[in-house]
Amino acid sequence: MSNNIVVAIDGYSSCGKSTLAKALAKKLHYIYVDSGAMYRAVALYFLRNNIDTQNHAQIEEALKNIHLNFHSRDYETHITLNGEEVSEEIRQMPVSEKVSEVSAVKEVRREMVKQQQRMGQSKNIVMDGRDIGTAVFPDAPVKIFMTADPAVRAQRRYDEIHLKNPEVTLEEIFENIAHRDYQDTTREESPLIRAHDAIILDNTDLTPDEQLQFALDKVEKLGV
Ligand code: C5P
Repeated sequence: MSNNIVVAIDGYSSCGKSTLAKALAKKLHYIYVDSGAMYRAVALYFLRNNIDTQNHAQIEEALKNIHLNFHSRDYETHITLNGEEVSEEIRQMPVSEKVSEVSAVKEVRREMVKQQQRMGQSKNIVMDGRDIGTAVFPDAPVKIFMTADPAVRAQRRYDEIHLKNPEVTLEEIFENIAHRDYQDTTREESPLIRAHDAIILDNTDLTPDEQLQFALDKVEKLGV
């Protein structure tokens, strides 16, 4: 293992993990990595190419043909799939509805975890996701597990996307969040679970600034 600092932020869907991770990375001058964007880009490829999530040979072949790259500008996630910018498309409902099925596939997880671990080898990073503190960086010195009231989460996500996607309803978003939480916590391969040494952050009643302060306090305790 290297001497780089990894801050691992895990938690349920639409808990504000990326908002906190971005703000923290900015403050600490670390690199921000949105691991969910990687699973979303893989899901987009699977959708476009009709990859069957039960067909292991097809999945292995698909993974060889998927090349992901991050371009971080102002701490916003820009991800390319085989050279094509897909940052907007991976946030749309078709991908949100498919992603948990794709991310439950063992071969997909193995490949993504490998790529994520490589990113943490040479730089200080803040990475958010579902298994960062348990499977990707089990030795991370700071682990935060985020949670919030599901209705509050759905409302926040709705407020965020309904201007761009006016056809999406609050109910649809609520159902998608509940469905992804269920799939992510019950899958066989590294399910979403709090690492035993992760600090819980329930942000139902917290502002983004309060959450940032909470996380900064944890990092500062490390004396880095
Ligand atoms: O973080 P975001 O909601 O964009 O992640 C999309 C989906 O990707 C999650 O619902 C989950 O199924 C999957 N994911 C995962 N492991 C991660 C990050 C995301 O399984 N580390």
